[in-house]
Amino acid sequence: MLNALRKQPEDKILALMQAYKSDPRTDKIDLGVGVYKDASGKTPIMRAIKAAEQKLWQEEITKSYVALAGDQEFTTVMSNLVLGNAVAPQNVAAAGTPGGTGAVRLAFELARMANPDLKVFVSDPTWPNHISILRYLDIETQPYRYFDDATCGVDFDGMMADLEAARAGDLVLLHGCCHNPTGANLNLTQWQAVIDLLNRTGAVPMIDIAYQGFGDGLDEDAAATRLVAANCPEVLIAASCSKNFGIYRERTGILMAVAQDAGLRAVAQDNLNSLNRLTYSFPPDHGARLVSMVLKDDALRADWQAELEEVRTGMLALRQQLADELRRLSGSDRFGFLAQHRGMFSRLGVGPDLVERLRADHGIYMIGDSRMNIAGLNAQTVPVLAQAIIEAGA
Ligand code: PMP
Repeated sequence: MLNALRKQPEDKILALMQAYKSDPRTDKIDLGVGVYKDASGKTPIMRAIKAAEQKLWQEEITKSYVALAGDQEFTTVMSNLVLGNAVAPQNVAAAGTPGGTGAVRLAFELARMANPDLKVFVSDPTWPNHISILRYLDIETQPYRYFDDATCGVDFDGMMADLEAARAGDLVLLHGCCHNPTGANLNLTQWQAVIDLLNRTGAVPMIDIAYQGFGDGLDEDAAATRLVAANCPEVLIAASCSKNFGIYRERTGILMAVAQDAGLRAVAQDNLNSLNRLTYSFPPDHGARLVSMVLKDDALRADWQAELEEVRTGMLALRQQLADELRRLSGSDRFGFLAQHRGMFSRLGVGPDLVERLRADHGIYMIGDSRMNIAGLNAQTVPVLAQAIIEAGA
């Protein structure tokens, strides 16, 4: 049987990580993998998470199963964190999942259970794993224009024109904030126009929110998701705790389905429970429990927010420094978009040849589409990167 298997396509990001590791240069710079790093290059455990972990170790008295949808406290605090009071809690079905990836996968499966001929509209570009999962599930995928190469902002007219083709039964996948891989985002007026279009076509929005708190602030980053949830009859929301709680390996995420009434919510909940059961029975509990503990304890929550705010403003400062440095070196403002982008990533908007020159000549690693992880920089390496970008001919 095993001899019938074919090798899977190589994951470009993981391959880049490997190439970086085996590069002997000591001044190499890793802007590849999507993990937050502080100025010393470490991915720290957040203080509040460590404190909650210590408390949990002392207080937890059983490791027995929890529930198919995970711990209800987790789904409640996360619904609050993401949705605020945009929708009535009795209309929200929710299930814990292994990371945001688990939530994305479950969302596609749920939508396909409802509509076997499902078509999913995805931004061009999007997080590559969206496409990989959809392809694996054999779900039709329709890209919509998103990134404008000329401005490195959103091609909003193109996006709206392409989304006109969406129909009832289709899903339109949107990044709630901090678009990965581009860093370019819609403003709230544009979000409202997307909502009007969705409501006119009958297509259902699916929001992937993996970086709440990394852009403009916790509430600001959730504003678009809340606007959609309050103004569309149905919405699926896949949220990840990997980045904003720094618990990548604990695999903590949630899928929420906002329904029009409590009856539809109950059916959605039943299906979410069932999908969890079919896939892995119970979602992981450790990370989810830490998140609940942090969000429910005033002191831990305040400390978490303060640390998250340091992470966020640190990345904003690096963006500004890079934009300023490139303005100085290029004598133009054509890299000003780097300070406008939000989140951990920016697409530099240069071709693969230039990306390759940055790697070969300067030991600077970014993804081939010129996505760079801003958190891979620090105040000392920003000028090095800026100089290299100009030398490489951008
Ligand atoms: N969605 C997007 C857009 C992401 O960038 C990521 C993380 N790379 C995820 C979902 C999933 O993250 P995780 O499974 O690690 O929680």
